[in-house]
Amino acid sequence: MTVSSKMSKLGTESAFDVLAQAARLAQTGRNIINLGIGQPDFPTPDHIVEAGIKALKDGHHGYTAANGIPELREAVAADILKRRDVEVSPENILIMPGGKVTMSFAIEIFGESGAEILYPNPGFPIYESMIRYSGAQPVPIPLIEEKGFSFDADYVLSKVNDRTRLIILNTPANPTGGVIPPEELSKLVTGLQDWPNVYILSDEIYSRMTYDGLQHHSLLSHPEIRDRLIILDGWSKTYAMTGWRLGWGLWPDSLIEYAKRLCINYHSCVNAAAQYAGIAALSGDQSPVDHMMTAFDARRHLIHERLNAMAGVSCIMPKGAFYAFANISKSGLSSKEFQNRLLDEEGVAAIAGTSFGKDGEGYIRFSYASSIENIEDAMGRMNRFMDRVKA
Ligand code: PLP
Repeated sequence: MTVSSKMSKLGTESAFDVLAQAARLAQTGRNIINLGIGQPDFPTPDHIVEAGIKALKDGHHGYTAANGIPELREAVAADILKRRDVEVSPENILIMPGGKVTMSFAIEIFGESGAEILYPNPGFPIYESMIRYSGAQPVPIPLIEEKGFSFDADYVLSKVNDRTRLIILNTPANPTGGVIPPEELSKLVTGLQDWPNVYILSDEIYSRMTYDGLQHHSLLSHPEIRDRLIILDGWSKTYAMTGWRLGWGLWPDSLIEYAKRLCINYHSCVNAAAQYAGIAALSGDQSPVDHMMTAFDARRHLIHERLNAMAGVSCIMPKGAFYAFANISKSGLSSKEFQNRLLDEEGVAAIAGTSFGKDGEGYIRFSYASSIENIEDAMGRMNRFMDRVKA
């Protein structure tokens, strides 16, 4: 068998491996606390589930338009107007099977040998994986703990050259919980005026998940780059719908036809009933989202406090998403060793920082999308682990 050499370049998302490893240990009777996987531990709100069931009962069983049903694209456009205060055409919106596929398409459209794509490091692992797979050169944008895991816009601009085709940004961010300050984004946008051929993919999948009254600052609020901006967002995190596989992308006129063509080649269209559920999510009662965020906020405070109380561990306060990215460099263990030993010895699943890129060395990611009791228990176990490691 001879497979394409591209296949050896494809990476993975370790959260799924750790999930499987944790499930295997749980099957042997071990008590495992999973703070590994990045998904809300809440069910999808009832009215959304009902809308999906109704769509099936109403006979929505066939293909839909490749770009998504018009009512859903209109609901997304209305939501963008409401939350990002920018009027967009539903014709520029593509309904996707999850948020991930928008990033894969953007990278596929620009990536090839000789091209360079900038991406956050540590960052969502699929960015680097897909960039390598496309044949392009991945150029990391280091996220700096002292800057709240933001970046330095001047540094990013210093990495842009004639080969640069795409810059990927993610705020609020996985795995760090960091939020890029609007001033840094403005500085970057201003600098990019000198590079009119460079496109931007803004991954805003955690746009509704900010804390302390912080408003999400969308790249869409910069009209100077709107004609070369792709926005990625979706339902997975906000509405606890990871398993429904529903996301959206906003594409500029110059790219929308390419992206639509990729939809037709890859998946034809998104599950019809899920699209109807998506309308109910956007236009229905938002109180379940608020309720979930209130719960995440309490857990955020708890995990932040517990981590910082442990000798040899520190963690900055996450400003968004539902991840705490703890600095464990004083443990004397690599991130991977830390991940494996914490799971094997204490039954706590968390993800090594290096699963998000080489700049994640010295860190470990906890998802606090888990109950207060689980977080308390996991932190107690980790404290015990730290005492042992340092002894
Ligand atoms: N972007 C980021 C930063 C994420 O963390 C994730 C999921 O963890 C996604 C995109 C993908 O979301 P989806 O499950 O909707 O494909």
